[in-house]
Amino acid sequence: MTEPNVFLASIRQQMDRAATLAHVPDHVRAILAEPKNELIVHFPVRMDDGSFRLFKGYRIQHNNLLGPYKGGLRFHQDTRLDDLKALSAQMTLKCALMNIPFGGAKGGVKCDPSSLSSDELMRVTRRFTHALGANIGPEYDIPAPDVGTDAQVMVWIMDTYMNTAGYSGRNAQQRVVTGKSVECGGTEGRAQATGKGVVHCITEWARERGIALEGKTALVQGYGKVGSHTALILSKLGVSVVGVGDHTGYRLNPEGFNAHRMAEYVKKNRSIEGYPAGEACSRADFFAQEADILVPAALQNQIGAGEAKTLKVKLIVEGANGPVMPDGDAVLQERGIDVVPDLLANAGGVTVSYYEWVQNGRQEIWDSEKVEGRLERSMKRAYQRVAERAREQGFSMREAANVLAVERLARVYAERMIFP
Ligand code: NAD
Repeated sequence: MTEPNVFLASIRQQMDRAATLAHVPDHVRAILAEPKNELIVHFPVRMDDGSFRLFKGYRIQHNNLLGPYKGGLRFHQDTRLDDLKALSAQMTLKCALMNIPFGGAKGGVKCDPSSLSSDELMRVTRRFTHALGANIGPEYDIPAPDVGTDAQVMVWIMDTYMNTAGYSGRNAQQRVVTGKSVECGGTEGRAQATGKGVVHCITEWARERGIALEGKTALVQGYGKVGSHTALILSKLGVSVVGVGDHTGYRLNPEGFNAHRMAEYVKKNRSIEGYPAGEACSRADFFAQEADILVPAALQNQIGAGEAKTLKVKLIVEGANGPVMPDGDAVLQERGIDVVPDLLANAGGVTVSYYEWVQNGRQEIWDSEKVEGRLERSMKRAYQRVAERAREQGFSMREAANVLAVERLARVYAERMIFP
């Protein structure tokens, strides 16, 4: 028997609670509890040594009520169907909360990309894209980067799709993925977007409380695309990053790490292991370190009741999806530690992905000022909507974000009704 998936159970429970709080009809609750489509593919790839390996890939399309399915592709050895089901549901809610005309999806390949050569990674990506075939498309389902994938992987997907999907409107097919490099049709500001969004939430939280961020301290778990940009932007605001961690371990430095130098190191060495500043520490020491802000930016299921009890921070901003587990959430609420939930905190990524898709469709190129200005307004407005709803009804920020999202979906179902 497989173990029940904690993450999926938590997302289902959150959606269920939001449906109850928002008084939405039972059929909407039932629709949201399951994805519309679950696609699993197996495909062979030639490895550098001439052997062949069979890979397993997924694309879970949760809901397309508001627009094309949208969500990241994760290349990770622990990728599991139920995690992707949870992540795809979160994408539906995130786009609804942010008023983005997209639905929700998620997918990936079960593999450890760090064990593959660049050529092998390219062949895995291209064969996976080919296996997905017409199940993705610029008006149907639009993947993006997530854990273990990046702009290069997106460009390979785009190129494979453009070369296999037929000739009509070949260039319009460029927007089958977002998060591409700027050279290949991506947008300015996408690489930093999720980190920027995280920091907009932090600045709003501080502004509401009359707190000056300069001189404050932060812990960042995960030093990949989201974590590294969050750390860099925080440093520019005078927030000192005193603890970092990734899949290889954790480090503390009361003086604060040089976020830029660390990002360069990780780019070269693929992890923080052996970074020549600060002291290595245990995972438990990292979570027990005193700081003002914690940004989990790695994976789901990181902060359970055990970690939540030892934390000495005032604010958690969920850069990752699902980092706080339900028992951890309960402890954090009891202890009065503020949590800005994933749905809002990491929505900067899909927001700027939407800008990329719009630019590709209109053959426009926006400069970084335009992208960043729009992102900032969108994040701050969403933060205010969530904070206001939480205040008005005594909800947590997580409950408020979920309720706003589910209400929006329910309003659309009420007008469109269920086909036929
Ligand atoms: P990434 O692959 O660029 O980085 C992941 C980081 O997590 C790496 O530093 C890795 O070492 C670390 N990590 C992996 N396993 C770990 C473990 N067991 N313990 C501690 N650290 C671990 O991925 P990313 O794109 O930065 O995504 C990170 C999180 O942010 C994910 O939850 C993802 O779904 C979420 N997210 C990403 C985006 C985006 O635009 N990339 C947008 C929204 C949400």
